[in-house]
Amino acid sequence: MIGTGTSENIAGRAGALAQEASMAIIAVPQLSDNYAYLVVDDASKECGVVDCSEADKVLTEVKRQGLKLVAVLPTHWHFDHVGGNEDLARAIPGLRVYGARAEGGRIPAQTDEIDDGATVAVGSLKGRVIGIPAHTNGHVAYHFPQLDAVFTGDTLFIAGCGRVFEGKANTMVESLAKLAALPDSTKVYCGHEYTAKNLQFALTLEPHNAALKAKHEWAVKTRAAGNFTVPSTIGDEKQINPFLRTDSAELRASLKKIDPSIGSDPVVIFATTRALKDKF
Ligand SMILES: [Zn+2]
Repeated sequence: MIGTGTSENIAGRAGALAQEASMAIIAVPQLSDNYAYLVVDDASKECGVVDCSEADKVLTEVKRQGLKLVAVLPTHWHFDHVGGNEDLARAIPGLRVYGARAEGGRIPAQTDEIDDGATVAVGSLKGRVIGIPAHTNGHVAYHFPQLDAVFTGDTLFIAGCGRVFEGKANTMVESLAKLAALPDSTKVYCGHEYTAKNLQFALTLEPHNAALKAKHEWAVKTRAAGNFTVPSTIGDEKQINPFLRTDSAELRASLKKIDPSIGSDPVVIFATTRALKDKF
């Protein structure tokens, strides 16, 4: 499960990917630490927006880039991911607003219902809907193979994962496994800029993980310079994300010091790690 890159390469690669990705995917900061993303079909200049809480900022960027917004792709119903939907729908007649059936109608301005395995379209780009419940019952990811990118909302963060609000620990473990099964090269665009703090927590469990140390140093520098830490990649997350590393010997040994009865059940390891992060 460990990739081939050295720890120095990981940080460098993340920076390079951010540059390459800027052509087709544009991050638009929202509220204090949320990200909306424009997914751009270069040929038609049509775009979709993943998770919009502040419509004005998204519409300004759409206009500045000379694009046409055709679709809203919410990952889940929480206000900081859908709060801008009504304003977007009012501003753009005919706008498609997707919403997962399992969110029970809580996506504002929804026009199209989606389920796990559905396809969403942005111009010629096709996104596959992956059902990843646990943070909310209808949480979805959007995987765009043509862009080698996945939008993970509040399920998979860089070096972290979302809180388990509506599912159980095993639901989140299954959802994270679905994302980890994507190709290692897949770029990961998540819902919040939590990276530096997540890495700080991860280091308490795996202080000798060289890839983790390098990523932490890179993230601190990147934020100090005012830049984004997205995207990561699935391959990098497997090296640094404690919630994808329930089989790490060092992580297990750290947890055993806290709870000698912990055993080796991946769901228990996940739940214990999640509980520690809740208090971090
Ligand atoms: Zn959320």
